Amino acid sequence: MQDSHIAMEEGAIAEALLAWYGREARALPWRAPPKSRQDPYKVWLSEIMLQQTTVKAVTPRYINFLRRWPDVNALARAELGEVLAAWAGLGYYARARNLHACAQRVAKDHDGAFPGTETELRKLPGIGAYTAAAIAAIAFGEHATPVDGNIERVIARLFAIETPLPAAKPEIKVRAEALTPDTRAGDFAQSMMDLGATICTPRRPACGLCPVRPACRGYAQGIAEQLPYKEEKAARPTRRGVAFVAMREDGTVLLRTRPPKGLLGGMLEVPSTPWEETSPNGEIIAAHAPVDAAWQDVSGRVEHTFTHFHLELCVARAAVPEDVVLNDGANPAQCRWLTLRELPGAALPTVMRKVLAHAFETGASRSSRSRKSSRAKRRASKTRVSPARRTANRRSA
Ligand code: SF4
Repeated sequence: MQDSHIAMEEGAIAEALLAWYGREARALPWRAPPKSRQDPYKVWLSEIMLQQTTVKAVTPRYINFLRRWPDVNALARAELGEVLAAWAGLGYYARARNLHACAQRVAKDHDGAFPGTETELRKLPGIGAYTAAAIAAIAFGEHATPVDGNIERVIARLFAIETPLPAAKPEIKVRAEALTPDTRAGDFAQSMMDLGATICTPRRPACGLCPVRPACRGYAQGIAEQLPYKEEKAARPTRRGVAFVAMREDGTVLLRTRPPKGLLGGMLEVPSTPWEETSPNGEIIAAHAPVDAAWQDVSGRVEHTFTHFHLELCVARAAVPEDVVLNDGANPAQCRWLTLRELPGAALPTVMRKVLAHAFETGASRSSRSRKSSRAKRRASKTRVSPARRTANRRSA
């Protein structure tokens, strides 16, 4: 009985949303106006960037990407390092590596033209169910239904789905697909995205402005704002480590390229101990210091939260001579010295920018003090005190 009631409303809900979208669509740099299709390259690029990231953070980077690599062939020809550097700050760097791999696949296997169906799009690197449906609907007009977090929230409220996420996902998907009209699937998907982003917001939804309020069961039952319910997540563990900021006399900083796969893969990092739940002991710290030097602890620590864990890094800093030799444990083949001027354009993830800012800002007074005595500085750079010994001494004090 309930389903037949909803079935009667589905066409009206889609119609109301499309009419509202025609009036209120957000003007975004990757959007085509309502009733028109967008270049799949632009849809793909924006959808990959927007995963787990805000429109505000994505907009300048999207514009920059498009300026540097105006089409998929141009992006395919780019060096991965350049792409990672342009991506820096958006997080989830596996997306940037997949973006590059996908561009190369489209250029090589599809003559630079994205395939036009959800099924074919799913075969490309980094394109999951949501992105494939979004590109198929928005760029190709296929009857496809992307469902992201915003759309999940709207559907859960519209149909008063009380099953908590993630168990509710299949039901939400079925409901969303049933609402998708035969024509203008792309506009419909974008109207749902906009409704979730601007009116049916996580907190205090503006139901008074909502074009589908008459059909909304969550609103009618007075439970809209609480939906969707979510299963409690396990608490994130905290991992700890020590990061080593080595500055050479010529003003360069030691950085290292991370392994291509895994967390922050292919990005630059400040060398550090492994990140473990227990704090590293003196032996571990000594084994991972990239050079033997007079390491100074920088007061305070750097904190950063990843999807699956929280990170706390202590920072050690050292001034080293130009001819300093890297320790074998530092993986010298992956290390390089960058000038301060090169840092803004480098493929440095946010956590490493925080480490460098912490080392430079907190260490500024020490540096100015040490400049007053070049003899003391030379002495410091010649005195090779292992960080293990220093830390062990400090902890036992
Ligand atoms: Fe969301 Fe309120 Fe609209 Fe329902 S009426 S879809 S809860 S904004």
